[in-house]
Order: sequence, then C-alpha cells, then structure tokens
Amino acid sequence: MDAITNLPNYLDQSEAVKNRFDRLKQREVILEVKNLGKVYKSAKGEVTALKDINFKTHRREFVCVIGPSGCGKSTLIRILAGLESHTSGDVLLDDKPVTGPGRDRGMVFQGYTLFPWLTVKKNVMFGLEMNNANTEEAAREASLWLELVGLDKFANAYPHELSGGMKQRVAIARALVNKPRILLMDEPFGALDAQSRAKMQAHLLEIWRNVDVTILFITHDLDEAIFLADRILVLKAHPGEVQELIEVPVPRPRIPGNYTSPEFLVTKARLEALIHPPKSATELESEEVSITQHMIRFVNVEDNVE
Ligand code: ADP
Ligand code: MG
Repeated sequence: MDAITNLPNYLDQSEAVKNRFDRLKQREVILEVKNLGKVYKSAKGEVTALKDINFKTHRREFVCVIGPSGCGKSTLIRILAGLESHTSGDVLLDDKPVTGPGRDRGMVFQGYTLFPWLTVKKNVMFGLEMNNANTEEAAREASLWLELVGLDKFANAYPHELSGGMKQRVAIARALVNKPRILLMDEPFGALDAQSRAKMQAHLLEIWRNVDVTILFITHDLDEAIFLADRILVLKAHPGEVQELIEVPVPRPRIPGNYTSPEFLVTKARLEALIHPPKSATELESEEVSITQHMIRFVNVEDNVE
C-alpha cells in the first residue's frame, strides 16, 4: 500500500492531545480579537491589511500566526501591542480593551533591540526601573530571569559580545521580567542561522514550560510553527484574513524527533496547501513568460559586454 495513504488526517488527535486541548479550552481567555480590521490610508490609496480577524487565546497557550509576506502579521501584532491603532473591531486583554502599550504585554522583535551601551543585566533591569522599581529589587529580579534564560554568566557582558541567539534570550528575559500576561513575538528567530534557530525554539519551549505566560508568535517558517504551537492561525494575504485555525496534533513535550512523525508531516502538508496552493496552468505559463523575458535581457547584456 502507498505509504502516503497510511498517513493520518491532520484533524485526527490522539487521546492525550485531545485531552490537552479540552483542558486548554477550559482555561480563562487572556486575549480576544473580535472582527478586527485595519485599513492603511496613504496618498496612493487604501490598503486593507487585516479584515475580520477573530480568535481567542487561553491562559498558557502557545499560538503561532503564519502567512505569506504582506498578509498583515506584523500589523496584527503591533495592534495587539498597542503600537498601532485598528480601524474596526475589538482587542480585549483580560476582557479590557487595548488602547495603547502596557506592561501586561511583552514584545520581542526580529531585530536586536537591546541598548548597546547597557550591560545584559542593566538591559533586563531597564523596564523595571522605568516602572519605578528600586534598583536593588530590579537587580535581584533581573538575575532570576537571566538564570532562567541561561545567561547568568553573561550578566556583565555588553550586547556586542553576545551571539544573535543570546541577544534574543536577553530580549526574552527583558520582556518577561515585567510579568506580562502575554508575550508577543514577531519572527524573533528570523535572523538566526538554522542551528541557532533550532536551539532557540527548544529553549523557548523550556522557558514557557516554567513560566505562567501566554505566547503569540509570528513566523513564516512552517516547521517552526508546528514545533512550537498549540494552535496555528493561518492568514492569507490581500486582504489579511483568517484561513484556518489549526490545532496541532503533535504531542507535548516536543522533541526534535517530532519533525518526522506522521502528525507533523500531515500538519505541514495542510499548511503547505493553505499557504502555497498549487498554481494553475495560466499562472505557471505567465511565470514562464517573465523568466524568458528576463533571460532575453540577460543575453542582451552579455552581448553588450562583448
Ligand atoms: P507581514 O508582517 O505579514 O509581512 P505587514 O503587516 O507588514 O505584513 O503588512 C501588511 C500590509 O499592509 C502590506 O500590504 C503592507 O504593504 C501594508 N502596510 C504595512 N504597514 C503599512 C503602513 N504603515 N502604511 C501603509 N501600508 C502599510
Ligand atoms: Mg512582518
């Protein structure tokens, strides 16, 4: 029999996975997004970045948001962070509308955002001191979080002395030190090489197991989303709309061996089908035409050189 036909459906869940989702859904709702829309207005016209987005995240849930470039992922997370306004709908955190940035949300971005002139520990202390914590207490808290992210030995180092992965661990500690209700992460490992990235994914799951925090994590890497998430919110572009909210059938705790498990592979196949749907003959043909035109231009350049 064909091996492919033996694969389970991505909607099938083992008893353990199903029980976990049942428990998860009984937990309190931390974040609720209702009919959220965002239209950017500029001189060139209007861009509908997000349309009618609806979802909830429960306490200690790990949700990944995935979708093609330009589908509104960063817009969504910036609205949740209170850094961007929305044009319709509601965002509720613990049942209260989000109207601006707040300590109840921690942010980690792809770019390294540490202050280069402050040591690792001072970077982590910064947010606490901004919120009027006394220095001694802030130092104690910062040490605890640095230990949790495995960087206590680098407390007095400066950001330029750290690898990309270590910088992101400091950024995570800095976000968590304020004890946010939700950690918002926008492609935080996007700039790392494959090996550091895999290490950071495992590390983040370990941190999350030890901390009472809900995580909303944006990525365009399908493997990363499946490895990390309880549920994956799949967006499509133009306008950014929810295609599907997938319950990942891969059991926890996650281990590298998961990557080749049948549940992992069928989930990936589903994501592939949603995000990279097979192209029609006309689309393929028009791509071929533009490649040919490009080659003609290239040949002309070569001719000119001779
Ligand atoms: P993603 O993070 O998924 O790549 P973005 O949220 O950055 O997508 O962008 C979604 C859409 O909104 C894109 O079409 C983008 O060009 C547009 N957009 C993003 N920011 C602005 C802005 N400040 N002004 C106008 N259009 C914007
Ligand atoms: Mg983005």
